[in-house]
Amino acid sequence: MAILTEELNSKTKKVLQKGMMDNVMEQFNRAANHINLHPNIRKILSITNNEIVIHFPVKMDNGDIEIFTGYRVQHNNALGPYKGGLRYHPTVDIDAARALAMWMTWKTSLAGLPYGGGKGGIQIDPSKYSQSELERITRRFTFALADNIGPEHDIPAPDVNTNSQTMAWIADTYMSTRPPAERSANQHVVTGKPAGSGGLEGRDRATGFGVYLSIKLWVQSQNDTLKDKRFMVQGFGNVGYWAAHFLEKEGAKLVAVQDAFGSIENQKGIHVETLFEYTKTNEGSIVNFPEALLIGKEDFFGVDCDIFIPAALGNQITKETAPKIKARLVAEGANGPTNVEGEQVLLKEGVAIIPDILCNSGGVIASYFEWLQNRNGELWHMEEVMNKLEKKLKSSYEAVSVYAQNEDVDMRTAAYCIAIKRIEKAYIQRGIFP
Ligand code: GLU
Repeated sequence: MAILTEELNSKTKKVLQKGMMDNVMEQFNRAANHINLHPNIRKILSITNNEIVIHFPVKMDNGDIEIFTGYRVQHNNALGPYKGGLRYHPTVDIDAARALAMWMTWKTSLAGLPYGGGKGGIQIDPSKYSQSELERITRRFTFALADNIGPEHDIPAPDVNTNSQTMAWIADTYMSTRPPAERSANQHVVTGKPAGSGGLEGRDRATGFGVYLSIKLWVQSQNDTLKDKRFMVQGFGNVGYWAAHFLEKEGAKLVAVQDAFGSIENQKGIHVETLFEYTKTNEGSIVNFPEALLIGKEDFFGVDCDIFIPAALGNQITKETAPKIKARLVAEGANGPTNVEGEQVLLKEGVAIIPDILCNSGGVIASYFEWLQNRNGELWHMEEVMNKLEKKLKSSYEAVSVYAQNEDVDMRTAAYCIAIKRIEKAYIQRGIFP
């Protein structure tokens, strides 16, 4: 993932965070009203179960001590252990973690996984730290989280600016704190580890594959194909890159990309692998890619295309940017990229939206496979992983589109209704202790 160096002043930060929590609550309430959710269960789901805030010291390369703030919010575990990523970004705070944890609860429920939802991270711009500093920061945070995470309790995974290396450090640190005989049985405390250290073949591409597959299923529902469809991607990290990779393989054409450093366009098509190789030589950035034009940040949203994939941060499609969008389909690779006002503009214009909790669910589905693999002491192969992933994603997509049609609601409301109903059912079956 390209590291975001952009300094966010506190005012901008506030707006971003406020929007996130407002969005998820508005989306939840809309669906809860639609299914007439039991008021007691609405109360439970409107609030998070646990919120952990940790201030921890780490020694920097120059010998100075710096204090960092880390978060882990556990929203709900009615269906199973808390599950969700850890992000390293300046916008991470308690409100962002709350909203993102809630989204995970809906996402895992919609996918039919035996998990609840959690999210967390560290308020940090990782581009400002060396690799060995990042390792110490990650290990110290893991140690501080201690028994608040665990393979049957709360299972973190990669998110913005964290990757398989980060997960390997977390697994190693967590396992080192267990008694010797229990160490290897705790490998599934995190998912998204490197293949070879308990990781799953294909976990790296799973989210992007899910984004591609849901776009393909939507295009097919319009009696069309991906051939020559023009798409644009915001964010060329793990999700954006892999989604573009799979779309291009089916004949679709990447026409514009934006990352934290700038935006580029080429209506003749940007070759995905060439751009990917270029970013490796350009500190992770797409800027100045020779086979495309550099365009303004604001012009990016108005690029002429068929499909828009926001695959970066939340709150990108707003009442300011939504009217510029020319695409007929928005496929949400990121979590919460469209705010409520932006969504109203798109729906009014007849733009279809594949909601985040469906569109980017390939990642957590593959995380579940990794967790099963570790728990059962197995090693799954790529082909098996991708087949199982495709099957699961298709059945979620099918359920959402059937519900949307039958109830005459948009896909987001449909996805939320299915997810919330499953949790409601579990509460009704079990009751509330004591
Ligand atoms: N961070 C990813 C998400 O937002 C993956 C979470 C996971 O695998 O637990 O869905």
